[in-house]
Amino acid sequence: MAKDTLDPSDWESFRLSAHTMLDQVLNKMEAAKTGPVWNKLPDEKKKDFDQPLPQKGLGVDVVRQKITELLPYGVGNTHPRFFGWVHGAGNAGGIFPEMAAAAMNANVGGRDHGAIYVEKQVIDWCRQIMGFPLESSGLIVSGTSMATIIAIKVARDQFLDTCCRENGLAGAELVGYASEQSHSCLSRAFDILGIGSKALRKIPCDQNFQMDIDSLKSAIIKDRNSGKQPFLIIGTAGSVNVGAIDDLDALADLSLAEGLWLHVDGAFGSTAILSESIRPKLIGLERAHSLAFDFHKWLQVNYDAGCVLIHSKEKHLQSFAGRAEYLVAGEALAAGSPWPVDFGPELSRGFRALKVWSHLIEHGVEKLGAVISKNCKQAAYLSEKIKVDPCFELLAPVMLNIVCFRYLGGKDIDNNNLNRQIVRMLQESGVAAPSTTTINGKLAIRVNITNHRTEFSDLDILLNSTRKIGKEISQH
Ligand SMILES: *Cc1c(COP(=O)(O)O)cnc(C)c1O
Repeated sequence: MAKDTLDPSDWESFRLSAHTMLDQVLNKMEAAKTGPVWNKLPDEKKKDFDQPLPQKGLGVDVVRQKITELLPYGVGNTHPRFFGWVHGAGNAGGIFPEMAAAAMNANVGGRDHGAIYVEKQVIDWCRQIMGFPLESSGLIVSGTSMATIIAIKVARDQFLDTCCRENGLAGAELVGYASEQSHSCLSRAFDILGIGSKALRKIPCDQNFQMDIDSLKSAIIKDRNSGKQPFLIIGTAGSVNVGAIDDLDALADLSLAEGLWLHVDGAFGSTAILSESIRPKLIGLERAHSLAFDFHKWLQVNYDAGCVLIHSKEKHLQSFAGRAEYLVAGEALAAGSPWPVDFGPELSRGFRALKVWSHLIEHGVEKLGAVISKNCKQAAYLSEKIKVDPCFELLAPVMLNIVCFRYLGGKDIDNNNLNRQIVRMLQESGVAAPSTTTINGKLAIRVNITNHRTEFSDLDILLNSTRKIGKEISQH
């Protein structure tokens, strides 16, 4: 009996319980294509999360039962007709590394052990995928939001000669540029890094929702003339609203000419470099100084995992290196410098790298690229069906994997309100889960396809249900 440790006192029954849990989880994964997309957590179930702090433990069987009860109430992104926001669908293989990571309980902030080598391997594979130079470095993080903070800090520190690490901005009036369609995590990073969200200039887009290069040039000149200090251009590879990819090659030329850092937000879009049909649209990506992207979106790794790549390991270290005396590099277990902690803000870190490494080994990049190509074909298919159907209006050109459209309710109908209701009813019915956005002032039903389970017939189901609900509400 192991009374004073947290280990099971009876490994036999623990093992039995664990095997049952595994089967329950596998049942869930095997059934990913069936049932409603989304089950709202019922009110009486919410009460389960308003309980007193446990004083005495209830044991692992109670935990298993409670977890099993929670399994049906996910976001729905494992289902083939989840089309909201930008969510990856995950994959069954992810369960192996999650189990192993729990068993190893590795702290991947540093030191010399297996997990460190796994992460280095993953970073080097990512470098190859994205065409970054040999002297690049990178770090696996929770997602693109965190990757962006790291990348922009390196850009900021390089511009201010890294003395800002000690002195702060000291009155420097830094400004950066991204398109009007860029993601909100960029302003958040500017805020967090003390640059201020207003210092991120939102540059207008052309009719294809790409950043307008002439407007960008004028904005840089205007800021320079008024004494501001431009330091950064951020290109978007795959915008959330419509999937637009900025002209990265043109941005790289401009950043070279102006001496500005080029960062690319490629959360999902940059991973389309694995698709032969999309790759040409990403030319110039390899010239960026930094890149942030996610494994948990279009690459289908289970949440959460993202990555930052910096084109120069030296510059990356200049922003984060510097350890206290109890962490200095040494011999034996303390060897292997630089450590992950020298490339980012976290010291203790989990073993996210393992699930990415396993995923790449299990499926290979060819298959991951094929899923991306398939999703783009599905978006094109959906947009063609919308174009020939007078019930619908396509609201933006389809460039990648995102389709924005609306149901037309006829005259005297408020189409914004109507389409908002349609999306709510689609979600509540469990048939499909698109989300909404606004395109040129019009409320759009937004369909994002970053899902290896989606079939062409799922898009037919979506359109048929949308038409049916639209007709019912508008009597049209
Ligand atoms: C999802 C997304 C982000 C934020 O990434 P997280 O992984 O959610 O932190 C940033 N930019 C774009 C274009 C995105 O799609």
